[in-house]
Amino acid sequence: MVTVWRMRCSDCKTEWELRASFDLSTFKTFYHYCRTCKKNTFHEILGREEIEA
Ligand SMILES: [Zn+2]
Repeated sequence: MVTVWRMRCSDCKTEWELRASFDLSTFKTFYHYCRTCKKNTFHEILGREEIEA
């Protein structure tokens, strides 16, 4: 199982998905590289979905 996390960049508001095997649900915001901003920004976690790897 892989968890897909829906993220939204707090700078440019772009939504994208992060596939991770670790649990991000304890984070309210997540600091990660944004491909639109081309820098590390804070992200809001909008939701999660579990898929078959
Ligand atoms: Zn961004």
